[in-house]
Amino acid sequence: MKKSLIILAALMTFSVMSTLPQVQANEEIPSEVTLFKNVNIFDGKSDSLMMGYDVLVVRNLIKKIAKDIPTSGVYEVDVTSGGVKKVHVPSGYDSNTYTISIKDGEAKTEKKQIKINIIDGDGRTLMPGLIEGHGHLQMNGTSLADIENNRNWEELAIRSAAKAKAALMDGFTTWRDAGGMGAGLKKSIDEGVVVGPRIYPAGAFLGPTGSHADFRNFTTPNETVYGANSAGSRLGMTFTADSVDMIKTGARQNFMQGATQIKIMSSGGVASAFDPWQLDAYSAEEIRAAVEIADAYGSYVMSHAYSKKSIIRCLENGVKTLEHTFMFDGDVAKLMKEKGAYMTTNMHAFSPELGKIEAISSSPASARKAATAQAAFGDFIENVKKYQPKFGFNADCVGFGDSCKKQTDHEIYLSAKFFGNHFALKSLTSVNGEMVALSGNVLNPYYEGKIGVIEEGAYADILLVDGNPLEDITVIGGSELWFDAPARDGIDTMRIIMKDGKIYKNTL
Ligand SMILES: [Zn+2]
Repeated sequence: MKKSLIILAALMTFSVMSTLPQVQANEEIPSEVTLFKNVNIFDGKSDSLMMGYDVLVVRNLIKKIAKDIPTSGVYEVDVTSGGVKKVHVPSGYDSNTYTISIKDGEAKTEKKQIKINIIDGDGRTLMPGLIEGHGHLQMNGTSLADIENNRNWEELAIRSAAKAKAALMDGFTTWRDAGGMGAGLKKSIDEGVVVGPRIYPAGAFLGPTGSHADFRNFTTPNETVYGANSAGSRLGMTFTADSVDMIKTGARQNFMQGATQIKIMSSGGVASAFDPWQLDAYSAEEIRAAVEIADAYGSYVMSHAYSKKSIIRCLENGVKTLEHTFMFDGDVAKLMKEKGAYMTTNMHAFSPELGKIEAISSSPASARKAATAQAAFGDFIENVKKYQPKFGFNADCVGFGDSCKKQTDHEIYLSAKFFGNHFALKSLTSVNGEMVALSGNVLNPYYEGKIGVIEEGAYADILLVDGNPLEDITVIGGSELWFDAPARDGIDTMRIIMKDGKIYKNTL
């Protein structure tokens, strides 16, 4: 059976059914109820596929996973439980017609016209939509200096919308933004103004003067003393916070602007101008100030942390997700477990090609920092294999267009190469799903169901791909090549992309 079969019927009484028109097969694919038939499921967690299942999506949630969910006859869909019950097939009636009455809750049975979209998976793999655990949609110049010197707000906003659409069309249905934007794009996507993933924005980066959050050039006056002087600060991408009080103000300002979590820069980085990567940027007291405000909102703090000293200090003072975490070792693993913390690491930092990223190649200081940092992170991969931390996928691309597609494809490949396909796939789905849920019951904008898993009750964020990603990571885009990879438009083996029950791509 092909994707077609858009059939409706409805139903004040059976006596009027035969007069209802058939919907044309070329009509826009409906999304109210979609039934995937005959798929092998990667559920986001298991190391093997569930073979030969059907998945029923009602509105925006996965309602039923079972073998042989019926495709014809007269049925009743219970929207609350997702149960499908065969009720009655009038004799002589078209056996491919779905007749649906929707039971919504205990008392109310709603009968209305409803479109059914039946998709024959034909043995393909159905899996959760991918989740970017640490990305930057609004950071879309070629480097910090490029953003600072060449891009104004309208260009950055338009590029962020294009970057969001590209991410969705590459299978990323959720995106945790790790700093540099408020909730404007997220709201525009949720309202259907533009197309993109679900977004968990962190608002402006919080960091002290001269830190990884300081985007000024060398001669720009200090922002703590003289107010917002850099473009990053004026655009709400960064917030220079040099004391406990300033950090609290910055965190509150971010939440007020719609952030779902707070991002601090507790250590130095590579692509920024003034901070050695070893810099221990925030004191314990300052980290606690950010955590205190995040706690008050029921949310959490994510922290950019390279050095072991900074990593341990973050963990001891309540940070829940460690970003980059390059000096991960046994001590960090033990403390992470104790605290229930997560980490994300961009594996391309270990590539010999790292220096080709424009944000690094354009600055001799950054290139030098990258080289010394790489040399210091020698045991990282072995340690992750050994201690198996809760590890979220993170491509961390601050560029735009093809450069981000290539970086993300290569990041997927490297995660699988170093830690295995199953580990990489979990980090792209269920682990990152747990991580975004740390934003808590109050602030989490997507609270109706889980994200990153194929389970009954989870959000219908679904990919249907040719092949088995547990055996071949290229079917979700993984690419051995980085800068030399050919330009591409979408991922051919990704046949269906569904977010929130709505289909954005279907090449079956
Ligand atoms: Zn980042």
